[in-house]
Amino acid sequence: MRYAETGYNLEIDLSRGNIERVETDPRDTELYLGGLGTNAKILWDRVPPEVEPFSPDNLLIFSTGLLCGTPAIGANRTIVTTYSPQTLLMAYSMMGGFWAPELKYAGYDKVILRGKSPDLVYLWINNDKVEIRDASHLQGKGAIETAELIRQELKEPKAQVAGIGLAGENRIYFASIEQGRSSASRGGIGAVMGDKGLKAIAVRGTKDVNIARPAEFMELCEEVLEYIKWREDKPIPGVMPILAGLGSPQEMKVHDEKWHTENFMWGNSRTRRKDFWNKEVEEKWTETMENARTRLISCYNCPMECGATISVPGISTYMMKCFSKLTYTMAAYSDLDFGFRIAQRATEYGVDSYSTPQVMAFALELYEAGILTDQDMAGMPSDNEGRFYWLLDRIVRREGIGDVLANGTHKASIQIGKGAEEYAHNNIKKHEQLPLNLSMLNPVYFLTQTSWNQKSKVGAKIFSFELRTTQKISCHFRT
Ligand code: SF4
Repeated sequence: MRYAETGYNLEIDLSRGNIERVETDPRDTELYLGGLGTNAKILWDRVPPEVEPFSPDNLLIFSTGLLCGTPAIGANRTIVTTYSPQTLLMAYSMMGGFWAPELKYAGYDKVILRGKSPDLVYLWINNDKVEIRDASHLQGKGAIETAELIRQELKEPKAQVAGIGLAGENRIYFASIEQGRSSASRGGIGAVMGDKGLKAIAVRGTKDVNIARPAEFMELCEEVLEYIKWREDKPIPGVMPILAGLGSPQEMKVHDEKWHTENFMWGNSRTRRKDFWNKEVEEKWTETMENARTRLISCYNCPMECGATISVPGISTYMMKCFSKLTYTMAAYSDLDFGFRIAQRATEYGVDSYSTPQVMAFALELYEAGILTDQDMAGMPSDNEGRFYWLLDRIVRREGIGDVLANGTHKASIQIGKGAEEYAHNNIKKHEQLPLNLSMLNPVYFLTQTSWNQKSKVGAKIFSFELRTTQKISCHFRT
């Protein structure tokens, strides 16, 4: 008997329409641990360095982790690994939500996809029954809309669906895979899914996951739960559910808006607004948020509730991921209401909430500098918010200048020329906005993402990177 893991992967060849259930070697988990490590090993073994991200030979791997689906608190991540069209290196992105535990309950640890389907399809995993189904009627549909349509079509309201929107279908280099509560966005992995002709993967599972010493395990989980539970009267210092509040309460120094808005860069990662936050902004934004936020939501088996359902008049209700609360607002020098509105459209399109606002702000900065002209921006509205919507629509449809911007700021700046490279602030060498959150170095991102990425094609033992922001930082890591 296997404990915590199911011991089986699904191997899908989309070119041939072949589906296999393959038993895995338990030593892989012992050696490489969770979904991230075992995905990296599979990619390392099976995809040679010369394979391009949009080649049928590139793999797209959806993985659970070892503890995922067990009562371990917050063990709900789906790790998606592939070669990135942005960097040409291995990329992974992880999403919370409910998809990975459902896959475990269906009896699989991973879904490994290769090849390309000639027509748009989706995958339906219903315990032992797995089908590749036609998705031509879902072409161009939003990612969240697609999930709902698939649930209706399957008559399975409990199916968990991870899918792409128009951005993934059009191979936008910062396209995401959306899953309602969460998304896997970094590295343009949604573009690889679109390139493979796969609109979505729907999963429903009703099996059990085995635990070796269940009573002991439950006791430990209870202990962890008690420790991390967030309550008004006893927050863990520095940790708060991001969509739970605004302002700068004494105990919550990390995720509050004062800290974000005054310390992260605005616009195209150039301006820091040290004195932005004041009482008036706090009151206005608090009102906006309380009107828009219908309820706080968590990922599977997590008490943190750091996401929320957002209902703004005139647009459909959606689940906001914690981190996208401010990215559009700050890129556009706008307010929270704008951020809530545009994030809904961006979520349906399926784009990365970090990269996308920056690409749009980059385009507007180029326009203000005369590098992009009226001809490039023909038809763009004159108001600030209208410009962002206009750019978003052009980018995901790859129309006009949007076709250039859809490749990300690094590649777009080379294509545009005329000094545009000087305005691509979020690049680290060729890594599109990799360990940056709005131009701030995030050490955790850096240590996790870069070390794994560098392991791939170059196989380097030591690497360096240069961070272009207000200052230059050079780091050398031994991997
Ligand atoms: S609710 Fe928040 S803290 Fe909990 S698993 Fe999801 S993203 Fe993480």
